[in-house]
Order: sequence, then C-alpha cells, then structure tokens
Amino acid sequence: MNVKSNNNITINYPGLMTNYKNFPMVPRVIFGQGCFGQLGEILMPKRIHSEAPFIFLVDDVFEGSELVSRIPLIFNDQIIFISADEEPKTDQVDVLVNKIKNDFAELPSGIIGIGGGTLLDLAKAVAIMLTNRGNAYEYQGWDLVKKPSIYHVGIPTISGTGAEVSRTTVLLGPEKKLGINSDYTTFDQVLMDPDLTQGVPKEQWFYTGMDCFIHCIESLNGTFLNAFSQSYGEKSLELCKEVYLGDLTEEDARDKLMMASWHGGMSIAYSQVGVAHAMSYGLSYLLGVRHGIGNCLVFQHLEEFYPEGVELFNEMKEKHNIQLPKGICNELTNNDFDIMINVALSLVPLWENALGSEWRNIINPEKLKSIYQKI
Ligand code: NAD
Ligand code: ZN
Repeated sequence: MNVKSNNNITINYPGLMTNYKNFPMVPRVIFGQGCFGQLGEILMPKRIHSEAPFIFLVDDVFEGSELVSRIPLIFNDQIIFISADEEPKTDQVDVLVNKIKNDFAELPSGIIGIGGGTLLDLAKAVAIMLTNRGNAYEYQGWDLVKKPSIYHVGIPTISGTGAEVSRTTVLLGPEKKLGINSDYTTFDQVLMDPDLTQGVPKEQWFYTGMDCFIHCIESLNGTFLNAFSQSYGEKSLELCKEVYLGDLTEEDARDKLMMASWHGGMSIAYSQVGVAHAMSYGLSYLLGVRHGIGNCLVFQHLEEFYPEGVELFNEMKEKHNIQLPKGICNELTNNDFDIMINVALSLVPLWENALGSEWRNIINPEKLKSIYQKI
C-alpha cells in the first residue's frame, strides 16, 4: 500500500491502509491557580530585542480590571482591547495586522491572546498573517499557510472550546465560516490559570462548557473514533459530568472544566465533530449566533443521533436552570433556510464522521430544515 508521508513523498508500507495525521501539539503548557503571575518570566527569553514588542490582544470585558494591571508590560509592548460580542472575522484580522505593521518598524516578538475562543482565535490568526502575504480569508481551509507564524501564546479566560489546543482558528470570512487549519496555527505556549475564569457569567459558562461536552459526544459517537481520540474524549466527558452534574467546589469545578476543555480539544484533534457543529455553523453564518449557544440550540433536537448525549444535556440544563431561547428560526424565509443548509452540508468531514461515508442517504436538505424549524 502506498502512503503519503508528512512531506508528501509516497512511501511503500506493506499492509498499511491509512494516511495518518501527523499533527502538532502545543509544546509548552503551564497550568495552575495563579500561574498568570509567571507570564513575565515565560515571555522574557522570547523577546527578540527591545524594539520588538509583545502585543496583547485582550477581551475588552477585562478593560480596567485587576488582570490587566498584572500584564507584564515592558519596552513598547502594547495592549489592544477587543470585543468578543461577535465572532472573529477575516477582515478584523487584516485590520489588526495592518495596525501592528504600521505601529512598529519591526515584527513583534509575539502575540498573546487573553480571553475566550474569540480572542484565542484572533491571536492565532494575527500571528499567522504577520508573516504570510495577502488577506486572512485566502487561508481559510486546510494547510494553505506557507510560512511559520510568529511566536504566539494562548491564555483562556473561559473553558470549553478547546481553542487553546487546536490547530485551527475559526473565522467568519466573506464567503464562509471556516478555520485556518495549519501546523502553524497551534499555540507555542498555553497558560491555563483557572482563576481567570472566575467572572464568567453563568449562562456563558454553561454554553461554552457545553461546547466541550458536545465535542466529546460527537467524537465518541463518530465513525472516525480511534483509541487516541477515545482516551481523551472519555476523560473529558467524565470531567464534564463532574462539573455539571456533581457537587464540586467552585474552585475544583474551574480546574476541572479547564482540563475538560483541553482533553475535548485533543479528542477532536484526532477525530472530528459531528451533526451539532455542522448545523451550528449554519446558524452562526446566517444569524451570527455564537458558537456555544448555537451548539446547544441544535444539540437539544438531536436525540435521533445522540440519544444518551441529549439526555445528559437535558439533565445538565435542568440542574443549572438554563432556559434556551426559542423561536430563533420562526421568521426565516425558504432562502434563509437554504443558506444555513448549504453551509451545514458543505462540512463533509463532519457528516462523514457523524454518519459514515453513506451519510447522504441519511441526511438531506428537508431533514435539516425540519430540525432548524424546531429551533
Ligand atoms: P467568547 O470568547 O466568544 O466569549 C464569550 C463571552 O464570555 C464574551 O462576552 C466574553 O467577553 C465573555 N468572557 C470570556 N471570559 C470571561 C471572564 N473571565 N469573565 C467574564 N466574561 C468573560 O467565548 P468562547 O465560547 O470561549 O469562544 C467562542 C469562539 O470560539 C467562537 O468564535 C468559535 O468559533 C471559537 N471556537 C474555536 C475553536 C478552535 O478550535 N479554534 C473551537 C471551538 C470554538
Ligand atoms: Zn465547538
């Protein structure tokens, strides 16, 4: 059997049937309550020289907060506050990259993203686009990035997306919502300080945490499942159950949800997500519904595909007294439904994972419309 190696050279390995992914991991991770205090010493050896600053992209929810006063600024380091009210866009990345290039004569020493998935994804994308020509939308897809990004660090302040560990940065572009999936996307350093998640509002804590839970369910029930993904997915699911159905102290729950997010991200790194994510991308593309809540809105209606997962989801929702909004799709036209359905159906690997190679026999536009109409 011929197999393409990492360098796309075809090698003959008798008996080997699959072209396995050789994916990058975050090379350095620090975890623990209060570890944000070590950021200065972590960054120091990465400073190229005094004219090459660190740029901190920080969720503007932290503007004026104690956290900002603890950011270890020296020389001409810069903080840029960014709203996470909307999901990140390719032209937002381009504007940030132009600003940084205009403000400084040299490339920065690095980009530090502080916030949820929105800020983490922006930090990854900006780090890539500082060394690659053109516009960010040209790199939406798989392995289109040609040059290594600059050093970039992810510091999550809310847990669930797994964006801290993944090799993608999900962006809304002019034509599609799609990640820049590449070996250069993954962070060089991640700092996980569970204390930073203390101020997360309850609803958001639930929605983003359910993103993690849904990653586990979709990975563990997918046809791409393998021992690698399963080991991380099972651990993450166990942690999610402890956090959302157990009796942990708040401190323990923050620690465990942060590790659940990491493990959930590792699980999908070597498998794929499924039906909820495919359909949630449609909602997000047309209506701007944010990722976590979008997944919840879809997932509640997927008992046909994930019966045990939906039952657990309902239990968690009840325990935390979460009311999901209703009637989101009530006013939509046929054309609107078609747009969402096309976005969802274009995500072929997600459907293949969820339902196998014959997924088109199970899923069609009418079926998707009937699910969207319930939301
Ligand atoms: P987010 O970054 O969109 O933030 C959600 C809300 O929580 C915002 O209002 C933000 O200001 C607030 N917030 C964050 N931390 C807070 C804190 N400590 N205290 C108070 N408020 C806080 O949330 P998210 O759910 O983590 O990220 C969603 C984004 O992640 C989407 O854009 C999605 O596409 C992306 N995503 C990326 C990946 C990936 O692998 N790259 C995976 C899943 C999702
Ligand atoms: Zn997700």
